[in-house]
Amino acid sequence: MSFASLGLCPALVRATHERGYAAPTPIQASAIPAVLQGRDLQAQAHTGSGKTAAFALPLLQQLVQRGQPGARPLHALVLVPTRELAVQVGAALRELSQGLRTPARIAVLFGGVSINPQLMGLRGGADIAVATPGRLLDVVAHNALKLGGVQTLVLDEADRLLDLGFADELAHILALLPPRRQNLCFSATFPAAVQALAARLLHEPLRIEL
Ligand code: AMP
Repeated sequence: MSFASLGLCPALVRATHERGYAAPTPIQASAIPAVLQGRDLQAQAHTGSGKTAAFALPLLQQLVQRGQPGARPLHALVLVPTRELAVQVGAALRELSQGLRTPARIAVLFGGVSINPQLMGLRGGADIAVATPGRLLDVVAHNALKLGGVQTLVLDEADRLLDLGFADELAHILALLPPRRQNLCFSATFPAAVQALAARLLHEPLRIEL
């Protein structure tokens, strides 16, 4: 199994090699082709499984296929529970996108710091936003980001999103997204509340359990 055989473009395959990834991890091998086909995903995945690249690579490939650099509205929204995870996922997206002809514009948004630099960073637009829910809503309230063009939603560590009390923010955000979109739900555990969220969100998902 190789990254090239999963349907990724040469620039993204090169990016995986530059990061030292010899071959896809099991979750990458299952998730990447499914996401590229437009399927919804419910994946039980721990940190260390390679889950970040499992959604980052196909999101970047979707951008490459979409074209129209410059004029593009926000393509994908990745919701994460913590600042640390936002920074980590943002860095992975930036590194993996480095070899693309049109660099992807990655916005990383989290609370606990001044919103102003984040608002300024959004002036040139964004292709993918990685955000904690509360700060995302603040940024939207400032009219700095529009969610109406989002085609893919990722919930990363969905169990922690709910544990940390983000259910209300999540409901508010979902109401701002276009109803027809692709949804990817990653979680280490699937207690009843996460199952219920997944059931509401996902349409005939591919289920991955490792
Ligand atoms: P994650 O589970 O996304 O937090 O990734 C855990 C670590 O595995 C990160 O340091 C990644 O850079 C690394 N990683 C992701 N995919 C691969 C791969 N296919 N081969 C080797 N390392 C990987």
